[in-house]
Amino acid sequence: MDESDPNALTVEQALERILATTERVTGSEAVALPDALDRILAEPVAARIDVPPARNAAMDGYALAAADGDAGSRLRIAGISAAGHPWDGALGAGECIRILTGAVVPDSADTVVMQEHVTVDGDHITLATDARRGANVRNPGEDTRAGTVILDTGRRLTPADIGLLASQGIGEVPVVRRPRVAFFTTGDELAPIGQPLKPGQIHDSNRHTLRALLSRYPVVFEDLGVIADTEEAVRSALTRAGESADLILTTGGVSVGDADFVTRLLQREGEVGFWKVAMKPGRPLAFGRFGQALFLGLPGNPVSAMATFSLFVRPALLRLCGTEPAPPWTLRARLLENLRKHSGRTDFQRGVLERRDGEWVVRSTGGQGSHQLRSMSLANAYIVLPRESRGAEAGEQVDVIPFHSVF
Ligand code: AMP
Ligand code: MG
Repeated sequence: MDESDPNALTVEQALERILATTERVTGSEAVALPDALDRILAEPVAARIDVPPARNAAMDGYALAAADGDAGSRLRIAGISAAGHPWDGALGAGECIRILTGAVVPDSADTVVMQEHVTVDGDHITLATDARRGANVRNPGEDTRAGTVILDTGRRLTPADIGLLASQGIGEVPVVRRPRVAFFTTGDELAPIGQPLKPGQIHDSNRHTLRALLSRYPVVFEDLGVIADTEEAVRSALTRAGESADLILTTGGVSVGDADFVTRLLQREGEVGFWKVAMKPGRPLAFGRFGQALFLGLPGNPVSAMATFSLFVRPALLRLCGTEPAPPWTLRARLLENLRKHSGRTDFQRGVLERRDGEWVVRSTGGQGSHQLRSMSLANAYIVLPRESRGAEAGEQVDVIPFHSVF
């Protein structure tokens, strides 16, 4: 079947429009290193010192002058330099010192010979091979030179970055303020967890999913709860959110024909457009502004809400947080079964990606209904089937997006 809709936007077009009006929030603050993981730098950070600060040994062995280092030479051990305990003497001709990894190499030495390449008798060593000048010596600034920009504005700090900053003795960094994200779900059928379901009710899962998704970003979030399908309730939630939030996220109520007042309210009192996106799951999407805030209205179906979050909210959030979103990491995997789809929309089917005998293979999780949240829970990747295709056959290579790159 062909499900093309001339009014639908492609996934790329929708994302382009969202990013075209999404800007980094203003304001920054200084945070201490223990709180800096995943925060986004508001200014570049330059190295303060050379790292390593001094010449030091890359191995346990003996430090000497290469001029004394021919194979067969016998040298006197004049002292020891250990990590944190430099030797403060100077080597004379025919002398060496015992040296341990990370210990300062004295000015009078230029080479470290591995301990495996010498024989020791009392306070003397004999070299088994010729020493190579400069061997096993780490030079000052070899890792980082003072003054070099080590991390740029917009960098989302990784564990390695935290270590790098610590190696510079930097204990505090300037980061972008955390955007405020207000979210709520809509639907008269939604019951909170911990309350038995009355006829016609289902538990509100989206709000918990959203909270979990948002907790992976450097944002402050405000959970406004489940909002009833009445104009009053939606208006008051939106008004409250629009006063202080940078981003408002909602689920439900954006389908055509569904609770029309939400649509009308958003259009009348905000600047919100309603889009159909040529993708499955998750077609209806609302985007615009309400009050001070950017507004993204996701579909109510739990799978659609997650899929639109991963493809549209995530990049917008990252931009808002001050870092440039990268396209999702995509790899090719061999499909293990036949998959069907309608042409005219891009499918993001839920799959299980595995490494088997040195090869990536992927299979479907089964039922792909946008209400089947278990398909998301069982999956670890999207199988991406292009808009015009009608499916793919077992054995074909298909594009796969691992979840960890989009959630
Ligand atoms: P809607 O977009 O409001 O028309 O909702 C589409 C479908 O998603 C309906 O079957 C809803 O019952 C369901 N749904 C909407 N919101 C939620 C939610 N917060 N948790 C679980 N299911 C929901
Ligand atoms: Mg609804």
